[in-house]
This record gives sequence, structure tokens and C-alpha cells, in this order.
Amino acid sequence: MRCPHCGERDSRVVDSRDLDESATIRRRRECNACTTRFTTYERVEAARLVIVKRDGARQEFDRDKLASGLRKALTRRPVADDAADLAADAIEAELRAAGSTEVPSSRVGALAMEALRSLDQIAYIRFASVYQSFEDLEDLKREVDTLYAEKGNGGGRK
Ligand SMILES: [Zn+2]
Repeated sequence: MRCPHCGERDSRVVDSRDLDESATIRRRRECNACTTRFTTYERVEAARLVIVKRDGARQEFDRDKLASGLRKALTRRPVADDAADLAADAIEAELRAAGSTEVPSSRVGALAMEALRSLDQIAYIRFASVYQSFEDLEDLKREVDTLYAEKGNGGGRK
């Protein structure tokens, strides 16, 4: 960090404080050569999140794409307008909290299905039938039966 006045590289920090809940640190520095004071900002860079597909292809995590997939499954279902966005945010937060920069796409799919399952069962089946591409009707029926069984046990929504 060069002094903006004389170009000297040596400076000392005279004050430092956190801004925006610590995502940014502001430092007041004093040039060791000419004593000019200047300010620097240090920001945390959001870690990259890379999705690894089954065939090994890598792709930057796309939160909006995830949200639109969820929104499609939730079309005309009785959920809040921002349900898909909130779910996408929650999934992104969970992926980031895991601390790994590479995530298998199956993990994203599983989290998406989990989120839809608790939001709306029809949306869940819609998404799962595309995503999991059920082998046949038997698979789909099993999944639906599972949902019914959970309902009967008082699990899930009414
Ligand atoms: Zn200087």
C-alpha cells in the first residue's frame, strides 16, 4: 500500500475499525516517510462456491437459477410469493456454512427437495419427478405413498 502523497511503501496503522458488521475493516494509516494520513478498506471476499456435476463438470453456483427452479415447481401452489427466494437463500447459506468450496450437484438437489418437501408436497413431487427422473411410475408412487404415510402420522402440513 503506497502513500498517496509520496509513494512510500511503509506506513503504520493508527486506527482500525469494523464497518458493516465486520465484512469491511477501515484502517487509518500514517506514512512513515511524510506522515500523510490516508484510509484503506479491507473487505472479505465471498468464497467461490463451485458445483460439481455428476459427469465431473464444474460450474459456479447460481443462486438465481436455483430460485427459478424452485419457483417453477411452486407455480400456482399456495405458498408465499417469496418462498422460492427464501428457500434458495437458505440453501445457499447451508452450502456456504459447510465451508467447502466444491459441492456435488446432488447435494444441492437434495437440499432443494428437502426445502420443497416442507413447503408444498405437490411442488416437491413436481421437482422430484424432473430432478430424480423417477425410473417408472412405481418409484413415483412409492414417493407419494411415503408422503401420505407421513401425513397420517401427523408429520408435515395438514
Ligand atoms: Zn508519504
